[in-house]
Amino acid sequence: MNIGIDLGGSHIGVGIIDGCNLLNTVDKFFTEEDRKDIENAIIRNIDELINNVLNQSNLNITDVQKIGVSSPGTVIDGKIRSSNLGLNYFDLKSVLEEKYKLPVKVRNDGKCAALAEKKYGIMKDYDDCVFVNIGTGVGGAAFIGGKLLEPKRFSGFEFGHMTIEKDGILCTCGKKGCFERYASIKSLKTRIVNKLGLNGVDISGQYLREVIMPKYHDEIQEEINDFIEYLSIGIGNLIDIFEPEIICFGGSFSYYEGHPVFNKFIEELKKPNSTFNGTIPEIKTAYLKNDAGIIGAVIDE
Ligand SMILES: [Zn+2]
Repeated sequence: MNIGIDLGGSHIGVGIIDGCNLLNTVDKFFTEEDRKDIENAIIRNIDELINNVLNQSNLNITDVQKIGVSSPGTVIDGKIRSSNLGLNYFDLKSVLEEKYKLPVKVRNDGKCAALAEKKYGIMKDYDDCVFVNIGTGVGGAAFIGGKLLEPKRFSGFEFGHMTIEKDGILCTCGKKGCFERYASIKSLKTRIVNKLGLNGVDISGQYLREVIMPKYHDEIQEEINDFIEYLSIGIGNLIDIFEPEIICFGGSFSYYEGHPVFNKFIEELKKPNSTFNGTIPEIKTAYLKNDAGIIGAVIDE
C-alpha cells in the first residue's frame, strides 16, 4: 500500500493506493485561518487526512510502504516554491519523512498527472508523449522513448511561460506575454466574465463550457477565437519541438473533449502550415481526471 497526496491551491486530497488501484480518498479545503500559517496548516491537514483514510481502509501506517506528494509550483529536492500557496522552498519531504519514518517523494503536479496518464491512462501505449495540463495555469511534461524527461537544476517544461506575445500581458512569473495568460482556462474565463459583465458571479467549469457553446458565440466570439488561436500556436510549437505521437490534455481542459471549442482548436491545428512537418499527433484528453495527481504521486520513475 502507498499513500498519494494531492496538494492543490485550495485543497488537499489523500488516497490509499494498492498497485494501480485507488482504494479510498479523503479531502479537505483550506480555510482562511489555514492561509495565515499555511505551512503548519498543510502539515496538520495532511496528518488528519492520513489518519482518516487509514481508518476508513482498516489499515495502519505500518502497512504503508511510501508516500508521494503531487505539488503545485517548482519542487527542488522535495522543497516546494509556490506563489499560489505562498510557499518559499518549504521542505515538506523532510517533515513527512521525519513524522512517518517512510520514504517520501514530492513532485510537480503536472509531472505526477503525466506519469499517471503514461502508466495507466490514455498515453500508456505510446512512447513519445506530451502531457499539457490546462486549468488555472498551463504546465506539463514530455516523454521520449517512454522516458519522462527531467532536467537537473529546475523543473523545466514550463509550457505556460513560453512567450507567445511580444510585450503581452504581465504574468505572475514577472515575464510578459506568457502562454498561460492567453490559453489557460482561467484566462478564457476572465475574459468571458469581463465581456459579459459577470464580475462577482461564481462561474463553475460546467457553466463556462455552456456559455461558450456556439449559440452564445456572437457577443464573445473574439474572446473564444483568441483562446483557440493562441492555444493552437502554443501547441503547434510543442508539436514542432517534441514531435510526439500523442498530446494529452489534463486539468479542466480535459472536460472539453467533444466540445465545439475543442473541435475548432483541432481544426485550427490541422490547417496547412500550423506545424513544421504538417502533421499532428493524436490529440486526447486525460482519462484519470482528478485522480491523476494522487495516483501519479507514488509512481517511481
Ligand atoms: Zn509567466
